[in-house]
Amino acid sequence: MGELVNLSDLEQKASSVRERLIEAVREHGRVVYSNSLGAEAMVLTDIIWTHVPEIDLFSIDTGRLHQETYDLLEKLERRYQRSLRVVYPDARSLERLAASQGVNGFYHSLEARLSCCQVRKIEPFKRAIAGYTAWITGVRREQSATRAKADPVEWDSEYGLYKVSPLLDWSETEVWQYIRAHKLPYNVLHDRQFPSIGCSPCTRAIQPGESRRAGRWWWEQPESRECGLHPRARHAAAQA
Ligand code: SF4
Repeated sequence: MGELVNLSDLEQKASSVRERLIEAVREHGRVVYSNSLGAEAMVLTDIIWTHVPEIDLFSIDTGRLHQETYDLLEKLERRYQRSLRVVYPDARSLERLAASQGVNGFYHSLEARLSCCQVRKIEPFKRAIAGYTAWITGVRREQSATRAKADPVEWDSEYGLYKVSPLLDWSETEVWQYIRAHKLPYNVLHDRQFPSIGCSPCTRAIQPGESRRAGRWWWEQPESRECGLHPRARHAAAQA
């Protein structure tokens, strides 16, 4: 997981994240964080709920999450004594999806997988960000080739608002050191070789030496393996 980072350097980085978030509120007004409940989300939730409460939070329950993820959501609410807004897919769209592709249709083709992500993630996401002028993400450059090219603040033409990524330059080591130093809750699946966690049927543990995203949609080509909420990646997926 890399070399240890000096704790005061880490707190300095955390303070820069705080500044960036405060600046995002100052510049964009209504700001929302789409909380993925991954390791990076623990860092951002801690900083936002402790220092920048003007930023709203939500999480999407696709209906296919691991039990461990629901347990984490509950732990977060207990620790911060806050209620996390949970957004669900539209029930009728979900019924239509299952009727047309089956309950596990996402395994059968990239098109079917993207349709599932559309109904279970993208449509709820669009509903949740309606009315906001900027959204926060926990993406980091080292997570994938597509994320390596991201900017800390970008105009998100897909959704029509600014996208702010304050952890872009954080390493995985730094994320985990922050989690441990602040004794933050995290998804226990991370202790079972799940570095990146999404829906249960589309996430598996990785083997030693595999990339951290090798456990997501492992049956697809690497360039299409994105969560569907990041336009550049989705275009790559659509062309694959
Ligand atoms: S990750 Fe899998 S189960 Fe979840 S929305 Fe996408 S295709 Fe569906």
